[in-house]
Amino acid sequence: MQAEFLVNLKPMKRILLLIACAISTTDIYAQDTPNQIHVHTRIIDFPDIPGYLTLACDLHIHTAFSDGYVWPNIRVQEGVKDGLDAIAITDHIEYRPHIDDIPFPDANRSYQIAVEEAIDQDILIINGTEMTRSMPPGHANAVFLNDVNALILKDSMAQFEAAKAQSAFVFWNHPSWIGQRSDGIATLLPIHEELIAKGQLQGIEVVTEHVYSNEALQIALDNDLTIMSTSDIHGLIDWDYNIADGGHRPATLVFAHEKSVASLHDALINKRTVALFEDMLIGRAEYLNPLLEAILTVEKAVFIEDTEIAKITLVNNSSVNFILINNSEFTLHEHTEVVTIGHHETVDLKVKTIERVEQLELIFTVMNALTAPKTHPTLRFSIIIDK
Ligand code: ZN
Repeated sequence: MQAEFLVNLKPMKRILLLIACAISTTDIYAQDTPNQIHVHTRIIDFPDIPGYLTLACDLHIHTAFSDGYVWPNIRVQEGVKDGLDAIAITDHIEYRPHIDDIPFPDANRSYQIAVEEAIDQDILIINGTEMTRSMPPGHANAVFLNDVNALILKDSMAQFEAAKAQSAFVFWNHPSWIGQRSDGIATLLPIHEELIAKGQLQGIEVVTEHVYSNEALQIALDNDLTIMSTSDIHGLIDWDYNIADGGHRPATLVFAHEKSVASLHDALINKRTVALFEDMLIGRAEYLNPLLEAILTVEKAVFIEDTEIAKITLVNNSSVNFILINNSEFTLHEHTEVVTIGHHETVDLKVKTIERVEQLELIFTVMNALTAPKTHPTLRFSIIIDK
């Protein structure tokens, strides 16, 4: 069962998983140099789902060319360290506070520097920009641009049109940002409805930086928008997301046919995403459910000798920690109804089946996942017990 699962993984993920399995502990001890051992992995690591590769992406990133504090090459290095498959450089068009120190005559320059840095790296670099307006429409990112300069326009609506002319994927940024919504409630306004109707606004950030918005998730579901999660990083990922202590940045998990810019674009347009926010996974059931099924797998199921207690070995094939609530007809011998399973961890569930059954069904509510506001998905395991 494990061997079958490993076949579908990318080489890097396969190696990491083998390390995890080999040492059978709750953490990966990745050794960077002979004298240095890290207890935590910072790699954002998720299995593929049937029919698609799972690409971890951060498509909202600033550099010193707008109001960020680092050079674009550092953004690439951070992305590689985090195991990301793609990043977009999205410096503001209208807000460039460092312009006197860092001239920016070509608005594609920060992207170009990132591309040069990524030449020998396994990470896709996407060209983009943040269109930076007061509300409405507020801020929006246009990504997959060929030429950011063409979006340097006074009129906001003309900017969205120019993005569409380049077949960009455009998403509404931080719609609940209290700088523009003092109540913190993401609210769809007529101008957004117009942009959506014209096919000029295709996604929405449900997570930005350290903020999650229930209302933005509902807007995404009601208006058929792509669910996005981004860091909107200005400083350093390591500092803002507490990497040394096991944290990670928000990311959008994108389900693509292959790891290419064109395939990523296609997946985003077609709303094949799940948002990652701390340990939460947020997305449409259509993609979140197969992802959960790929993440949590039963490795082994046997009866403990001379008992009617089945030992079910559950594996977490991901970099997030899970909280499950047992809704099965059976109770557990060593757990309350709450079962936690750490990243890359294996847990034995001792299920009191009363009789020595040949198969059983375990049903869990996944508390660290959302398919809609306040709606947690259910995960069912149909388990055949080894004789
Ligand atoms: Zn931003």
